[in-house]
Amino acid sequence: MRTSQEYLKKLSAMRKNIYLDGEVIGRDHPKVLHASQAIQMTFDLANDPEYGKWLKTISHVTGKEINRFCHIHQSVEDLLAKQEMTRALCGRIGGCIQRCMGADVMNGLSVATKNADIKYGTNYHQRWLKYLAYFQDHDLVGAAAQTDAKGDRSLRPAEQPDPDMYLHVVDRRADGIVVRGAKLHNTMAPYADELIVIPTRALAKDEKDYAVAFAIPADTEGVYLIARDAFSVKREPGMEAPYNDFGDIESFTVFDNVFVPNDRIFLNGETEFGSELAMLFALFHRHSYCGCKPGVGDVMMGTTALLADYNGVEKSSHTREKLADLISVAELVYASGIAASVKSAKAPSGTQIPNIIYANVGRRHAGHNIYHEYDILCSIAGGLPATLPLSKEYNSPVVGDFIRKYTKRRQGVSEENHYRAYHLASDILTGEIGSALLVAGVHGGGSPVMEDIALHRFYNLKSKKDIAKYLAGITEPELND
Ligand SMILES: Cc1cc2nc3c(=O)[nH]c(=O)nc-3n(C[C@H](O)[C@H](O)[C@H](O)COP(=O)(O)OP(=O)(O)OC[C@H]3O[C@@H](n4cnc5c(N)ncnc54)[C@H](O)[C@@H]3O)c2cc1C
Repeated sequence: MRTSQEYLKKLSAMRKNIYLDGEVIGRDHPKVLHASQAIQMTFDLANDPEYGKWLKTISHVTGKEINRFCHIHQSVEDLLAKQEMTRALCGRIGGCIQRCMGADVMNGLSVATKNADIKYGTNYHQRWLKYLAYFQDHDLVGAAAQTDAKGDRSLRPAEQPDPDMYLHVVDRRADGIVVRGAKLHNTMAPYADELIVIPTRALAKDEKDYAVAFAIPADTEGVYLIARDAFSVKREPGMEAPYNDFGDIESFTVFDNVFVPNDRIFLNGETEFGSELAMLFALFHRHSYCGCKPGVGDVMMGTTALLADYNGVEKSSHTREKLADLISVAELVYASGIAASVKSAKAPSGTQIPNIIYANVGRRHAGHNIYHEYDILCSIAGGLPATLPLSKEYNSPVVGDFIRKYTKRRQGVSEENHYRAYHLASDILTGEIGSALLVAGVHGGGSPVMEDIALHRFYNLKSKKDIAKYLAGITEPELND
């Protein structure tokens, strides 16, 4: 297993292809080092007595000890451990742990490659297993590149006036394929070793060129990572806090005629398995959300409860109701993930697949409530998160004492701790990273309507109508059956 220093050393040797702040930067740039703190934590905590029990596991292909973020779930216990680990790590970094995407897309590939081979006699699964062993042995970090530019949303991939609106194969050669397109929202691609690319959506039979899945190093020729960073406000020495380690760089990733060698191609034209893979990644990712959203919920409810305490309003009835709301959202989402794990099923590949209904209702509940959670923190915090003087002024010999005096609320709590608590709320509610998490809370893992579509496709509503018919005494056959 790698250390965070080995991970960073490997990144620093990669080709410069990150476009940020008007420059082309390498992966040793201070912003990349800062944003990758969450990923670094997944290496550093593997040997921690508290977190190591989740982060370390045994590979089912090599029998070696590996990081759980490189693991393919083999059992209910694996799914439960991933969920618990995700929640704990999100609480530790203060938000998204960012490494789950690679694990989720690899789990999706483990299933779809096998299913494609069963139907077509292809050898995608063996090829992918070889890649998996490499991925695990090198303890790699994968970014999942699924969401295409999509152009006109009312048109299918093959109907778009510009075929590049969905990533597709533009050339097939004896030694591989050439692809073109863009994946518009790649969390942590600038500090991932690999980009793992899969289709966005269900595909029709005439959309073979769009049914493509592959993995390539993130600095491959023709790949442009057009980046946008999000951090919280920089603090002055002496006022730093662990939350300030948290940051993120998203990538608008362009694949401009990128060559993919045969041994890195995991689907190439099998449209039904392209569709299945799109659905499977979303499923594994929504199950991960049932761990990370409660983790973000822990941060929200902890900050809300702390401010209510410091404000002296913790026991008021409206505060208690709001805190009960936060607890309910986090724990219901978490419970859905547990249910999705316990009610999971084995795929022909041996991978344990979360229950699709519970993973989707969990993610749906989280997405519907994310603004509500921010609303509650905002409501309890008052206006100070938006107007709190920053740490330069806090340290000022002229005005610093005024800030200390007028941010203090409750006896028994130091002035500095009042300031620190409000700074955290300010970072969450008004900071770049807090706002990015808010949008991610709605759209990450698919827009809210995607969960509705999944529920309508897989939920047995007819059995509920049958109950109603039975109770109503209706016996005639239903015309639409
Ligand atoms: C912070 C962040 C990080 C992300 N990280 C990743 C990542 O690492 N990898 C990755 O692959 N993706 C990632 N995503 C992408 C995420 O999955 C998408 O944003 C999400 O699936 C929505 O797609 P979209 O942004 O193209 O929005 P759209 O699909 O355009 O959705 C906008 C609205 O239009 C509606 N709509 C869209 N199409 C139709 C239609 N045909 N008919 C009717 N209504 C429609 C939607 O329901 C929605 O209400 C990330 C997103 C965010 C915000």
